Amino acid sequence: MIKTDILIIGAGPTGLFTVFEAGLLKLKCHLIDALPQPGGQCSELYPKKPIYDIPGFPEILAGDLTSNLLEQGKQFQPGFTLGERAETIEKLEDRSFIVTTNKGTQHHAPIIAIAGGLGSFEPRKPQLENIEKYEDNGLAYFIKDPEVYRNKKVVIAGGGDSALDWSIFLADVASKVTLVHRRNEFRGALDSVERVQELKLINKINIITPAEITELHGENKIEGVSVTKNGETEFIEADEFIPLFGLSPKLGPIGNWGLEIEKNAIKVDTLDYQTNIPGIYAIGDVNTYEGKLKLILCGFHEATLMCQSAYKRLNPGKKFVLKYTTVSGINGFDGSRK
Ligand code: FAD
Repeated sequence: MIKTDILIIGAGPTGLFTVFEAGLLKLKCHLIDALPQPGGQCSELYPKKPIYDIPGFPEILAGDLTSNLLEQGKQFQPGFTLGERAETIEKLEDRSFIVTTNKGTQHHAPIIAIAGGLGSFEPRKPQLENIEKYEDNGLAYFIKDPEVYRNKKVVIAGGGDSALDWSIFLADVASKVTLVHRRNEFRGALDSVERVQELKLINKINIITPAEITELHGENKIEGVSVTKNGETEFIEADEFIPLFGLSPKLGPIGNWGLEIEKNAIKVDTLDYQTNIPGIYAIGDVNTYEGKLKLILCGFHEATLMCQSAYKRLNPGKKFVLKYTTVSGINGFDGSRK
């Protein structure tokens, strides 16, 4: 059981900044994210796009903002459960909560901060018989550790940036890479498209287009796939199959936690961004209130006020005076530095 003061669901920019604001109040944070890496939309959807409305940064790449937020929070040593989706919540008699992920990891905290953005990004799964049987048994929708694929026969399906980038990367890791796409044209960046074609010419990548994976084979784990092209089906031996058809955001299991939901977002009190369940807050893109703007800087503001409220809830009656970090030092309101 992982124990913390504030359990943050969602490691997007809002969740990451919460770590810093909570740290100033000496509250420990642990983050859960369904994605294998932190950064939310910034790292998943547009890491190379510049953002122009982060105060103090005339221009910053979304990926660099994520790195900076991680660096800023690092001093407060947050914990991470990545690649797991927060699934269920249980309220205990002492008003604290246990949150369990889809992989069974349990987290215990008196405060829950839902910073789930547009929801957890769920992989778009191909319609194939028995696909669930192979999940984590040679079939993965995300690549967490490329080393898993070393010297293996890998089949990748998809035609976007992820499929192209991973085919290029794994060409030097796997013993064989086969890329299957249902059209002849790829949708990714031009230089990636050119690079896979170059790798095809030197037999580092086997490209099959226009074709589709039509069947999965293997006793208990993937041993091969059927690929159908122009009505003809061939068997391709594979140790690993990686369908990369993109991600779609869904509010998902959080929608069943008894929270007040409006238009796929969680209603909050703008006093402190608490939900209808005391002790559970919702901050960033995931919440809704009159005048809500889905912007990163709004998430930062909400995280800051939420942490103040959480501190008061955890320390009833305890007085504190807000000081500036420039005056009190980074490690809190008592002015001490580690
Ligand atoms: P998100 O970034 O969405 O992160 C939420 C995280 O929660 C995700 O990683 C998700 O996997 C995780 N999650 C959700 N549910 C669960 C669960 N049950 N279990 C585990 N994890 C879960 N904003 C700006 O201010 N300026 C811009 O210039 C700008 N440009 C943008 C450009 C594009 C193309 C897009 C798509 C958005 C842009 N935005 C911009 C919006 C900005 O990205 C969002 O406002 C911001 O990402 C919200 O941050 P967040 O942390 O609240 O949520």
